[in-house]
Amino acid sequence: MSKKEYLKKWRENNKERVRGYDKKYYERDKEKVRKKKLEYYYKNKDKVKDKRNIYAKKYYKKNKDKILKYQKKYGKNNKEKLKKYREKYYHKNKNKIKRYNKDYSKKNKGKVKEIIKKWRKKNPKKIKGYDKKYYEKNKKKIAEKSKNYRKNNRKKVLQRGKKYRINNKEKIREYRQKNRKLISLIEQKRRARKMKVIHDFSTKEWVAKLQATNGVCPNCQQFVGIDKLTLDHIKPISKAKNGEIYTIDDVQPLCKSCNSSKKDKVIDYANTD
Ligand SMILES: [Zn+2]
Repeated sequence: MSKKEYLKKWRENNKERVRGYDKKYYERDKEKVRKKKLEYYYKNKDKVKDKRNIYAKKYYKKNKDKILKYQKKYGKNNKEKLKKYREKYYHKNKNKIKRYNKDYSKKNKGKVKEIIKKWRKKNPKKIKGYDKKYYEKNKKKIAEKSKNYRKNNRKKVLQRGKKYRINNKEKIREYRQKNRKLISLIEQKRRARKMKVIHDFSTKEWVAKLQATNGVCPNCQQFVGIDKLTLDHIKPISKAKNGEIYTIDDVQPLCKSCNSSKKDKVIDYANTD
């Protein structure tokens, strides 16, 4: 048996005594021990860290229930404190956290999606508020994104729309009846897009213009009701350039018969005598 082995064995057999010695030695040479420990640590940082991690993992595995219980209890008793701490930590490490989260979701796409889905199902009320806020903040970005998506997934989007229409016939009919005005504008917009001109005004603006007529056609002066007035392009689309922009001042409400008899003429009924 080598001296080293002998010593090891002896220490194992005399644990109490060894502990006493170590304590005494430590008390007497605190600084020295500390320095030595530090030196060792700096020389073997990675090794020490690995060892510590392994030990911590082992300890956690062995005492999981105990630790979780303790954490739960601590969290309950220190809600405010923890909240403040988390906020402070977040502010201090914002960029780091954001980067980490981004990396993590990139690496664990499926998992993250699943978690979000579950959470959304569990918290529908919260989600509504969040979505609204998020939408208001990122309107332009979202519109751009969905436009790109539609462009790149034309077939998929079309198929999905077809399926939805088949499965929700009743719902769609009801919606159409309720939103006739809006729908006719949407259809006009679609038509305009097809003809390669751009409608640069909102539904709100258009509805305001409709309401200003009190339901009377500006050309024949007949009352037809706001719902029956149609959108007319003052300069007909057939005469517009590709990509020409129509603002709210470039369109007008007309009754159906005036609209179709106007044909290719450029007439702004609001500004003629
Ligand atoms: Zn008319």
